[in-house]
Amino acid sequence: MKQFHKSFTQQEAIPQAGIGRAVEVLQSGRLHRYNTVPGDVGETALLEQEYSAYQGADFCLAVASGGQAIQIALRAAGIEPGSKILANAYTLAPVPGAIHAVGAAPVFVEIGDDWLTDTDDLRRKAEESGAKFFMLSHMRGHIADMDAIRSICDEFSIILIEDCAHTMGAAWKGIKSGNFGKVACFSTQTYKHMNSGEGGLLTTDDAEIAARATILSGSYMLYERHGASPPPEAFETIRLETPNCSARLDNLRAAILRAQLPLLDDNIRRWNERYRTLEDSLRNIAAIRTVERPQHEAYVGSSIQFHLDGVAVDRIPAFIEACLARGVELKWFGPEDPVAFTSRYDSWRYIDNIPHLPKTLKALSTTCDMRVPLTFDTADCRDIAEIIGQEAEKAAAKH
Ligand SMILES: *Cc1c(COP(=O)(O)O)cnc(C)c1O
Repeated sequence: MKQFHKSFTQQEAIPQAGIGRAVEVLQSGRLHRYNTVPGDVGETALLEQEYSAYQGADFCLAVASGGQAIQIALRAAGIEPGSKILANAYTLAPVPGAIHAVGAAPVFVEIGDDWLTDTDDLRRKAEESGAKFFMLSHMRGHIADMDAIRSICDEFSIILIEDCAHTMGAAWKGIKSGNFGKVACFSTQTYKHMNSGEGGLLTTDDAEIAARATILSGSYMLYERHGASPPPEAFETIRLETPNCSARLDNLRAAILRAQLPLLDDNIRRWNERYRTLEDSLRNIAAIRTVERPQHEAYVGSSIQFHLDGVAVDRIPAFIEACLARGVELKWFGPEDPVAFTSRYDSWRYIDNIPHLPKTLKALSTTCDMRVPLTFDTADCRDIAEIIGQEAEKAAAKH
């Protein structure tokens, strides 16, 4: 029986240029983003300049994590304690965490079998709740029908905020993910598309939101040292009315990220090569259902999802374990109790009135998920799919 030996948590090394620059930052001792010599632009400000250019957004702010980017984006966009905020129920725990941290109340929206926001439910909940914000998480890189989402947001005057933790570099109808809403949030945590251990980026074209976000991130009165922020006039009143929530990025991590940004588009190509190899093989397994991705989506295949339809739900844990025993690490979104990084919306019990979302629960009950590290090659992907296929067939035969 085939065994897989590579690690699902192994990232590629930081590019040599990044290591070199990081060492220089360490030698300088100037790690804090505002600890610069006069006339010098620090690594964090340069990262902001470069990422705003990559994203095609007027303003970019570097922060301590993706979750902090979301929290800051929500506040900067006008969320106050008690505000209602629409949010697709399929996401990672830092998203409801950020909503909770700003004192807002999530109104969860159903997802479909394709892991995309159910736009009919979005429209219904927008109408029923009167919420004026939509925190859209492009969870696992799946980008919903953005024309429909934009038209619902326009109709109900809803401010759209995008969580692009899994769509950095992705696009829909040729428009980069993150450029559909008022603000976009990105993560540079180790498992995302650029790796600085922890880190986050926020982009927007709105000068007022950018100014508020900058002060919220902990800029003190040093906001003029930012790389892609609005002119000082934009800060005139905001600087005195906005709290400092201390969530800055530092020059060391920025240096590591700057060296990765020029490689991002090629890495996306490499991810998708691996993704398509996996998808092509998984498609042929009887017990597994893959979902055709919408034509308009230019995704980043840094993870893959499939439905294990041919196996009874109570046998899925045994299937996951059998794959793991052969070296293939899968996650399952079905269980009530959160496991490692993976959790279902109804396990976030700090939220009041968690709704029953039958479509979401049904979709997640068969959803398996796998990371696709760039340290795997396409031959590895074929081996992995073979193991998954054999174990799926075994599990399917048992009922
Ligand atoms: C990782 C992630 C975040 C938060 O990022 P951190 O940098 O870990 O705080 C938010 N949303 C989704 C969907 C994520 O996967």
